[in-house]
Amino acid sequence: MRLPPSVAATVRAAPTVWLHPHCSVVSLNSFVSRYLVCPIHERLLGRDTFRCARILDSSQWLAPTDLAELQRTKLSALFHHATMNTSFYRDRLRRAGVDPAMDDPGAALSSIPPLTKQDIRESAEEMIWRNAPHGVFSSHTGGSTGEPLAFFFDRRRQAYDQAARIRTHRWFGVEMGDRELYLWGSPTENLRTDRLKRWRDSCFNQRLVNAFDMSAATMDRYLDEWDRFRPACLFGYPSSIALLADHARGRAIDLTALRAVFVTGEVCHPHQRETIAAYFGAPVANGYGSREAGFIAHECPEGSMHITSENVIVEVLDEQGGVLPVGETGEIVVTHLDAYAMPMIRYRTGDVGRLKHGRCACGRGLGLMDIVLGRTTDFLYLPDGTVKHALSIIYPLREMPGVRQFHVVQDERYAVTVEIVADDDCGSLSEENVTEHVRRAIGNEVDLRVRFVDFIASTASGKYRYVESRVKRPCVTSCVETLSHV
Ligand SMILES: [Zn+2]
Repeated sequence: MRLPPSVAATVRAAPTVWLHPHCSVVSLNSFVSRYLVCPIHERLLGRDTFRCARILDSSQWLAPTDLAELQRTKLSALFHHATMNTSFYRDRLRRAGVDPAMDDPGAALSSIPPLTKQDIRESAEEMIWRNAPHGVFSSHTGGSTGEPLAFFFDRRRQAYDQAARIRTHRWFGVEMGDRELYLWGSPTENLRTDRLKRWRDSCFNQRLVNAFDMSAATMDRYLDEWDRFRPACLFGYPSSIALLADHARGRAIDLTALRAVFVTGEVCHPHQRETIAAYFGAPVANGYGSREAGFIAHECPEGSMHITSENVIVEVLDEQGGVLPVGETGEIVVTHLDAYAMPMIRYRTGDVGRLKHGRCACGRGLGLMDIVLGRTTDFLYLPDGTVKHALSIIYPLREMPGVRQFHVVQDERYAVTVEIVADDDCGSLSEENVTEHVRRAIGNEVDLRVRFVDFIASTASGKYRYVESRVKRPCVTSCVETLSHV
């Protein structure tokens, strides 16, 4: 693909090695991780991450008109690819009257029907380009939206998403290889807590502590880990980080000296941001994206939510699917310009937001947006005081074949009810195996009821809350109370 001249010139001028002014002193571990481990790792996986990162590091300063030109060039290439290599998009673009050779592919974008999760479920095989360089990989997602989804990706897309992440960390003086503490959770990651996993984390200068297990005792251990590790930044769910901050404050522990706290995965409510910023004394930067839609946007130090304009086109649609003008609120729809194994053209995220006019004071030409309403989940509580992040129950549910949609409610007496809408072809899905999977997350101390239903009613309060808890826990009010307003 040929880059527009202005973009190509900027990329050629990009430096090959970075050193942020805040990071003039680099520890040996950081140095080895940044210049040895990470490059070798990316090379072995076939990901061109560092070249992508150099491109993004330069292109963020392009004028908005040049970025729009870059988007048109990449969109045209994506249309050509999708038409040539996937029967799904060949048919979809033809029916929409889109000719990949047209001068302004951006103008044609709105004539293509938005892509739903149902489209992907029904037509995944017809959407996949099996010849993607370095292979095609599958993943599950959508757990936090209550609608599980299997999708496919290639190394090119991964490299650009990873490069976008590197760039936004650098905005806050955090370089690849700097010490990073993850307050995160997923079944895969947390099962790999053996020696090999810890060795791998130490090579990358990372530590993982489990956001799915937040009892007082485990949080004490996390704080001890923190004290030994002394991270440069913290990355995790805002609800879990605010909970840890509350716990640490109660024990009068000093967790300051961070360069930034990166929050993602769910809505970051203002009270959580205040709690986190006040306690850690560091900027709180919100990232917006998803596994299937990519690295969509991230806050800069000036507080603006910048779209990753080189990699994604963001549109905002009304309820009838019409494109809304900048400033008006509607559903966020994303086209990933570097997703080639399974093109994502006009993918409906289910989140609500708006595009914004103007240019940020930081000087970057990247587009601006706001997230108005997105994925929100409550904690679940166990009688012994353990607090479970909602994703700990969401992850096993989303990975069960045959689960189309689910909703989880915990009542005042800790009892949990799981409602499931099953696919027509739901195979081995049964009350017994759902119970078994959920019990692994919540244990055996609370009542559990699994119900198969035809549909899950969408209420004003429940539309974006897929895990709701009605247990009253005054000790964590800062994390929970405002969620009930959503
Ligand atoms: Zn900015």
